[in-house]
Amino acid sequence: MAKHQFQTEVNQILQLMIHSLYSNKEIFLRELVSNASDALDKLNMLVLTNDEYKDVNFVPKIDISFDKEAKKLILSDTGIGMDEADLIEHLGTIAKSGTKAFLDNLSGDEKKDSQLIGQFGVGFYATFMVADKVEVTSKKAGTDKAYTWTSIGDGEYDLEESTREGHGTTITMHLKEEEGEFLEEQRLDSIIKKYSNHIPFPIFMDKEHYVSAITDDDGKETTPATTEIKNEQINKANALWTMSKSEIKDEEYKDFYSTVAHDSSEPLTWMHNKAEGTVNYTTLFYIPEKAPMDLYRVDYQTGIKLYINRVFITDDDKELMPTYLRFLRGVIDSADLPLNVSREILQSNPVMSKIKNASVKKVLNELSKMMKKDSDKYAKFYAEFGNCLKEGIYSDMGNRDKLLELMQFNTLKGEDKVSIEDFTKNVDEEKKEIYYLTGKMNLTMLKNSPSLERFKSKDIDVLILNEEIDTIVFPMVTEYKEYKFVNVADAKFEESEEEKKKEEETSKEFDSLLKEFKETLGESVKDVEITSDLTDSPVCLRIDKEDPSYMMAQMMAQMGNPSDIPPVKPILQINPNHEILTKLKASGDQNLINDAAHVLFDQARIFEGMEVEDTASFISRMNRIMTKAL
Ligand code: ADP
Repeated sequence: MAKHQFQTEVNQILQLMIHSLYSNKEIFLRELVSNASDALDKLNMLVLTNDEYKDVNFVPKIDISFDKEAKKLILSDTGIGMDEADLIEHLGTIAKSGTKAFLDNLSGDEKKDSQLIGQFGVGFYATFMVADKVEVTSKKAGTDKAYTWTSIGDGEYDLEESTREGHGTTITMHLKEEEGEFLEEQRLDSIIKKYSNHIPFPIFMDKEHYVSAITDDDGKETTPATTEIKNEQINKANALWTMSKSEIKDEEYKDFYSTVAHDSSEPLTWMHNKAEGTVNYTTLFYIPEKAPMDLYRVDYQTGIKLYINRVFITDDDKELMPTYLRFLRGVIDSADLPLNVSREILQSNPVMSKIKNASVKKVLNELSKMMKKDSDKYAKFYAEFGNCLKEGIYSDMGNRDKLLELMQFNTLKGEDKVSIEDFTKNVDEEKKEIYYLTGKMNLTMLKNSPSLERFKSKDIDVLILNEEIDTIVFPMVTEYKEYKFVNVADAKFEESEEEKKKEEETSKEFDSLLKEFKETLGESVKDVEITSDLTDSPVCLRIDKEDPSYMMAQMMAQMGNPSDIPPVKPILQINPNHEILTKLKASGDQNLINDAAHVLFDQARIFEGMEVEDTASFISRMNRIMTKAL
């Protein structure tokens, strides 16, 4: 017998399980049945597509039995099974991405943690919530050796060669003293019906039946009443997605969700769709209520299972649906794909692309309906997955307008979020320009940005985009329907001849002050110029879009490397009508102009969410200016 150590993360999970954070213990059975069903799915596919497995005697089923005396609960499947290496890899380590993040997120607060754990789905290890010893005996299909894995969940497990009739896996749980409920036929039956009624394979269990007494003509009992045991199928085993919508109760949709998504909370919504025509397929998609832990990790787990005519093909193909819809859980099933399809073929298969494109459209349409009909629900959805959808705006050109319509925008003028459709109702019908401002800072601060002053004075609304992802996505959006997307910095408004003339004159008047500012600020700015766009602020910053270093920075941001962006020198714009500037121009005090140039530049930087680079100098300059003023 060989002893093995669990990986650290497994130990941590086991500790959580044993100390039973989980309020909903019965889900261990759901997890085991779901594993068994996956194992049956895998072998089913191999038997149908791989010659090496054609002689395997495949009778797909799951058996549940229990022994009240010995307090044992046993679950057995005729699936693919595990060999020695599989047992070590699968039941000794956790491959799931986000495990570490999950563990780091635990707070020690039981209620919060049990919600997290439900969302994370700990699979097999959930058995240790109810058992103090677990044995797994498995034989991999196509091999002739069986192995038994045993653990009491104390940091290590034993692994030894053993015997098992036929391929598959048997899990024996030695239940804790207080977990007797899981040895009750009724209880087991109802848990199975709840979570596993619609997995595609039958589950069998011995059931006790009452047999009434037999009496003769005089009413005398000849055979007393008794009970008999029958081994029966206890789930329906009709893959839920194959049933027609009208036959399925909401409760059944929800229970099936908890099995496919390993999530104990209810789904936010689901979409069940059967398409018949040139391509026949069924999809059942769920949107979870909460974002999964690994949503923003590159190695996130996909939640869509592909079936071909009810035969499971894969559950880890990231191409099945676009990345920006990676929060979906559920099933795609089509009879029009070849069974022995390889991953490469799948990606270039025209049937698969049709299913994918139509499914994306369907999901986006459903979301759009939700947005219009149930705004509260949509708000919940948007809070969890809005940023994920945004990624589609740059990755899915074909659906860009549709995706923009699903966004909820903050605006300069309004307090509530609005849709792009509502926003465009108030856009100038001649110019058809949608102005936007991006910046990674809080909303109020962004709304007070000096670059918005001319919009405020002209009473023009602007989209205020204050999330990091906005700064990457929106510079790439050029239009929505017949409207152009225009960054506020690039917005141009007609000027009358008179205004132009006045500006030229002011420019001349301020010529020497501009020069002095430029000399003082030196390499920190690209240029200093007059602007007529400001009403309240004395200064603001502008980026020259023709600037090569700006274009370079944009490119790097698009490649997803915002941290490596080289610094871009801004242009300092000054408001010639502001009292500070008119007084400075008139003062002729060289030292004062010098200090003011720096303080004004720092002030403009602060408004852009940047930090003052040299706080000590900033403060001494401020103090000198104040002393003069007093
Ligand atoms: P998950 O099911 O989320 O991957 P688990 O901890 O439940 O996580 O299981 C880990 C792995 O162990 C599974 O991915 C599978 O490869 C293997 N496994 C578990 N149960 C079985 C089983 N009954 N038959 C074959 N393999 C199994």
